[in-house]
Amino acid sequence: MEKVIYLDNAATTAMSDGAIAAMQPYFKGLYGNPSSLHTVGQRAKEELEGFRARIARRLNCDAGEVYFTSGGSEADNQAIRSAAILGSRKGKKHIVTTAFEHHAVLHTLKKLEKEGFEVTYLDVHSNGLVTAEEVKTVLRPDTALVTVMFANNEVGTIQPIAEIGAVCRAAGVVFHTDAVQAAGHVPVDVRAQNIDMLSLSAHKFKGPKGVGVLYCKKGLPLLTFVEGGAQERGKRAGTENLAGIAGMAEALDEAVENMPASSQKIAALRDRLIDGLLKIPHSRLNGDRQSRLPGNVNMCFEGIEGESLLLLLDAKGICASSGSACTSGSLDPSHVLLALGLPHEVAHGSLRLTLSDETTKEDIDYVLKCVPEVVGYLRSISPVWEDLETGKRQHLI
Ligand SMILES: *Cc1c(COP(=O)(O)O)cnc(C)c1O
Repeated sequence: MEKVIYLDNAATTAMSDGAIAAMQPYFKGLYGNPSSLHTVGQRAKEELEGFRARIARRLNCDAGEVYFTSGGSEADNQAIRSAAILGSRKGKKHIVTTAFEHHAVLHTLKKLEKEGFEVTYLDVHSNGLVTAEEVKTVLRPDTALVTVMFANNEVGTIQPIAEIGAVCRAAGVVFHTDAVQAAGHVPVDVRAQNIDMLSLSAHKFKGPKGVGVLYCKKGLPLLTFVEGGAQERGKRAGTENLAGIAGMAEALDEAVENMPASSQKIAALRDRLIDGLLKIPHSRLNGDRQSRLPGNVNMCFEGIEGESLLLLLDAKGICASSGSACTSGSLDPSHVLLALGLPHEVAHGSLRLTLSDETTKEDIDYVLKCVPEVVGYLRSISPVWEDLETGKRQHLI
């Protein structure tokens, strides 16, 4: 592949060399099935439990609270379905969430609504944040679960998780957070942040795809999600993805250890990029500027289509995204930007650039040269822009 500037790290990341190396032994030498009773199997079992302990240490929980899954989507599905169904057995059929969760959460909740659950979708402020107080006001005696994402995958806003967790704990309501964008990028501590259930995914922090974790607090019952063997203490059948788990443990260790230095470096480049892009007339930054992931930039440019912008940037070697990876390709504006209160016309013109510690100042300066050119070109051929400029339509930004 020719040289590209990859600024879509919220969709997935390149693996770290350390994580790739950590996986190697499990393809051939240590290939045993952890359920086998012989030496080769038992050795694999020891390795597996070692990785579980390493990951637990990074989340500040016990190894017995870590369940391996096939990724973030599965962890979200299992956490939410389990808490909902167990709640309903005690007559609790109400769930609280926000309007801008990932589809792994929203689609699971939609299905539960069809099964008779009632879901309250909290509005998100225009800065992409909800408050613990707002969560508190919608809790009811029959609330089984609150699920609020740690950091948003499109606009990068970081919610007040510890406060929301405290509100839930005081009310005796299970609190789940989708921390797929947060883990490895900002400090996550399930005890200090009052989290009962948490989902993470390795490929968002330089680990392999197809492996993740569901943390479930001790004493909180968890329903079996995949039926079959007794793996994951009977909660998730299937021979463990030992190589993937090894890569995830290594990637998480590296991410957490490098976090102080790398988040500072990445945030400085992010700020350079935001400041530069805001010089484009009729542009706006989506999501709170302060409570924001170090690597996230999400902008709207009035009068253009995000998809056209993406394609022209791609032709210049810049990989970006508009909306989330799962929805781009459809022409619907992002549900996240609509939840922030942006009008449809504006939400269509969004651009998400997500940085990694491999992003350089030269990359950012190249993007700052290309985006204004492309936006200018698209506006020059846009009938909507003409109407805006001649005053036939009102500028919304
Ligand atoms: C990527 C992502 C997921 C899905 O994780 P997978 O491992 O790809 O299934 C869930 N939630 C958020 C916020 C994400 O960014």
